[in-house]
Amino acid sequence: MKSYNPEQALLKARREFGEHGGVAPSISRSATFTVMHPRTMPEIFSGLKGPEQGGCFLYSRHFNPTVDVLSRYLAAMEGTEAAICTASGMSAISCAILQICKSKDHIVASQGIYGGTHALLESLLPQMDIRTTFVDITDPGAVKEAITDKTKIIYTETMGNPTLSIADIPALADEAHKQGIKLVVDNTFSPLIFTPKALGADVVVYSLTKYINGASDLIAGAICGDRSFIQELMDLHTGRVMLLGPTMDPRVAFDVAQRIPHLPIRMREHSRRGIAMAEMLKEMKVKVTYPGLPDHPQFELSTNLGNEGYGLGGILALDCGSREKAEELMEVLQNEESFGMIAVSLGYFDTLISCSGSSTSSEIDIEDQQKMGLSPGLLRIALGYTGDLRTRLDQMKRAVKKVLSV
Ligand SMILES: *Cc1c(COP(=O)(O)O)cnc(C)c1O
Repeated sequence: MKSYNPEQALLKARREFGEHGGVAPSISRSATFTVMHPRTMPEIFSGLKGPEQGGCFLYSRHFNPTVDVLSRYLAAMEGTEAAICTASGMSAISCAILQICKSKDHIVASQGIYGGTHALLESLLPQMDIRTTFVDITDPGAVKEAITDKTKIIYTETMGNPTLSIADIPALADEAHKQGIKLVVDNTFSPLIFTPKALGADVVVYSLTKYINGASDLIAGAICGDRSFIQELMDLHTGRVMLLGPTMDPRVAFDVAQRIPHLPIRMREHSRRGIAMAEMLKEMKVKVTYPGLPDHPQFELSTNLGNEGYGLGGILALDCGSREKAEELMEVLQNEESFGMIAVSLGYFDTLISCSGSSTSSEIDIEDQQKMGLSPGLLRIALGYTGDLRTRLDQMKRAVKKVLSV
């Protein structure tokens, strides 16, 4: 099961070159496309003659040549038949879920997920009579018990936000498929590190905003899955991406596509610093969570499920004891040490630090935060790779000594 090699798959994917021999692809910015013969218009509209069937492009909410290039690269990287890009991670998540679930359906979801997704499942979807039971996704018994005859999806993040628990994708896929339902996985925290499809997942969703784009200069998302599922999402009559309309701009697609070739280099460096920083903090007796540390509850699982050579990413969770201490540490790290910036998000080349309970997970009420192991003093550190590692370790050491009295 560890056999997936995303870099080899990317190498095999047909590279797109630009007009006039450009080594970079051209950007197709047209909203609409010329149909050469009027007779073919009905066939194109009915989906019989799209660009994949030897026909032509129609309209850029449906297909756009530049956005299709990015979709093709992402499908290769994820080992799925196809992919579709969207305007944000949230639109990828909501369209994927709404494509599978209709009114009266049920979802079993990990309680340790991104605040926006938690809000979608907890507050918005019940208004459409789609209900969710949140469970500890690392407890197979709890997952099994929560499934009812109305359940259509098991939903989880490979690496949970912000508690960094690791989901056993093969076991969850087995359970889902035994019940005839779909496993939908958000792999935003761990591109290349884990390949959920190769581990059994049915649909993989991404916020490309984070690691995959890596420059914190745009918002984007993607859904990767079987060709039939991606076609459903684009169906002119019922496709959720087609009709809800979170279209990706071709200029955004170009930017992201140009950053995919160096994603492996970036991920390796995020991970190299992640483990070094985690080990130093552990040694200093700081309460640090990192999936690559042997005392992480799913250490063995992460090592077993991870693709060879990418490590376990650049995100650490530090329990500072209280929100005040966490804020003090952020203050020192940003304003005294210039270690990183107080900002939400992750996957940037500079380090981004946030207190999850009062920011990206604030949609989750305090009681649920406690259930998922999110304490108010939890600091999420999304390590970048600027500056040399030695300097960064020293900055963190000084800040932690000053604030946490370790
Ligand atoms: C940021 C994030 C999202 C939402 O993505 P956007 O691109 O901001 O819409 C979803 N899931 C996870 C795990 C995230 O970190």
